[in-house]
Amino acid sequence: MSNPLENIIRELITYNGSLSVAAYWSLCLSHPEHGYYMNRDPLGAQGDFTTAPEISQLFGEMVGIWIAERWHEMGQPEAFYLVECGPGRGTLMADVLRVAKILPDFLRAIQIHLVEMSPSLRAKQGEALKGHQLVWHEDISTLPNNLPIIFIGNEFLDALPVHQYVFQDGKWFERMVGLDVYKNLSWGLLPSGMDFGHSPEAGAVLEISPAREDFMADIAGRIGSQGGAGLFIDYGYDQSGYGDTLQAVKDHHYADILKDCGEADITSHVDFGRLSEIVRTEKLAVRLSGQGEFLKRLGIEIRAEQLAQKSDSISSGLHRLIDDAEMGKLFRVMEIK
Ligand code: SAH
Repeated sequence: MSNPLENIIRELITYNGSLSVAAYWSLCLSHPEHGYYMNRDPLGAQGDFTTAPEISQLFGEMVGIWIAERWHEMGQPEAFYLVECGPGRGTLMADVLRVAKILPDFLRAIQIHLVEMSPSLRAKQGEALKGHQLVWHEDISTLPNNLPIIFIGNEFLDALPVHQYVFQDGKWFERMVGLDVYKNLSWGLLPSGMDFGHSPEAGAVLEISPAREDFMADIAGRIGSQGGAGLFIDYGYDQSGYGDTLQAVKDHHYADILKDCGEADITSHVDFGRLSEIVRTEKLAVRLSGQGEFLKRLGIEIRAEQLAQKSDSISSGLHRLIDDAEMGKLFRVMEIK
């Protein structure tokens, strides 16, 4: 049996032709009624995937320290915007604000803005951050521009869609979602007319994300003009390259991208190399590191030792966050200053 979103997508394809991977992805994640993120909480053991802030409070505490350092470097302004993109359950922000209590002037300076498209997750965030003044935005275009601004985003960039191009017969084709003779969703290729200035081996896949690139250009523009910093964490790679990294995840397992539309998360690895180039054109500094290295630099091991006396889950959480075989290396941290 097909689900309601699949029927909508079929109809779209029947009348308008096949969809790019990016268009299909956007419908699956953010269709106003049936989109994956719109009416569920996908996080945690009961959900489809677990993220760093949900693994351990240590993660958000270290992000809090990083933000406090940037605030110091900025000359301790009396007020600044702290913007979280895709705050999920609000756990990361709650941990950041708990740490911020140590520095009352810092805590007082924070004006929280949340960029979140999902009504159900907005409700969760409101609960997790009760007692704090919160302003929500559908996207970053409506953020105010009169104060310094610090952006954070964990596993946000990977939710923004990519196009996929495949090199065949000396040309680039775009990978599309169409219908087979039985009207089932199926993969196809269309001549793209694109020229990326290089000719790889046949079958090479290139993932390009105008959504991520535009987002990063806007972020960099704002940091450049308002002052501030940015911190984005996601699985990805530091150097642009070829490869098909598109994936769907449901119930903590990989799922078929063309099945169960709107019921699985769709992501791909983030090309931090490309995004860094964009940020550098704004004359900002970028540093890329593994999550393990980044968290250790901020003192996560010392903090874990303090807390370990209270609970065992602290050391297992620490291991998952920083070990090279776990999230320590595949997860990349992009610091923008
Ligand atoms: N940062 C959280 C949640 C990650 S899941 C954590 O680490 O646990 C991705 C989050 O981004 C969700 O809150 C989702 O609703 C939000 N999101 C995804 N795409 C978005 C978009 N295009 N605009 C605004 N929010 C989006």
